[in-house]
Amino acid sequence: MFLNGKVAIVTGASRGIGKAIALAMAGAQADIVVNYAGRADAAEETAAAIRQLGRRAMVYQADVSDTSQVQGMVDATLAEFGKVDILVNNAGITRDNLILRMKEEDWDTVLQVNLKSAFNSIKAVSRSMVKARYGRIINVSSVVGLHGNAGQANYAAAKAGLIGLTKSMAKELGPRNITVNAVAPGFIMTDMTEQLSAEAREKMTASIALNRLGKPEDVASLVAFLASDFCGYITGQVIAVDGGIVM
Ligand code: NAD
Repeated sequence: MFLNGKVAIVTGASRGIGKAIALAMAGAQADIVVNYAGRADAAEETAAAIRQLGRRAMVYQADVSDTSQVQGMVDATLAEFGKVDILVNNAGITRDNLILRMKEEDWDTVLQVNLKSAFNSIKAVSRSMVKARYGRIINVSSVVGLHGNAGQANYAAAKAGLIGLTKSMAKELGPRNITVNAVAPGFIMTDMTEQLSAEAREKMTASIALNRLGKPEDVASLVAFLASDFCGYITGQVIAVDGGIVM
């Protein structure tokens, strides 16, 4: 019940980690805006599961890299629920390649969807959060943003950029009682990691202290906790949820 009455926007909540975050927060009694990019049926499934938990859900299609679509989503949230207490910037994509083969378009798209998206949504919610003198913003970064990864220059740069954004926003918005933190998942079993070969999976598992890949719920419980009033004095932090890769 620790998010009772709170309103949260979760980007990319139709599947994977975003869906798990939406359900964890609804389980703690928050109402949820389920943002999605393309698959309305999957977003509706998330919303139905939220309603089964007794909470309100609003499904909203918006490309998070598009400033005006994100503003539209925040306006619609304020019109429907009257406030935004929690923003989770979860939507993300990969377009992996070695730098010599990486297309400019793949660099730009990954930066737009993983990093500019957070600028868009933080800017859109900050006016109402500042007015309310309350807010919880959580950005989903990655361990790759902390230690880099060959073949992921675009993704690692975007995820490291999110960390700089998190710390700057924590300083800028802290005086208004808004906390801004980042989580850095390791290897979590979702559509994003499904395409890995068995060999790559084995190699990765060997680098994890807990000797297993993570589940979306492993990340979701931390995000829900960071969104709660238990964490009112934690801001500007990056917390790894990686089974012990980065330490
Ligand atoms: P996923 O591919 O299963 O889900 C990504 C979600 O983002 C989907 O709901 C998708 O529709 C949404 N999305 C993509 N582009 C969008 C856009 N332009 N506008 C709105 N929504 C968009 O991936 P996931 O593994 O659940 O990843 C969620 C987040 O966690 C991402 O930011 C990812 O970078 C991060 N992450 C994942 C892992 C992992 O191992 N899976 C590790 C570290 C970080």
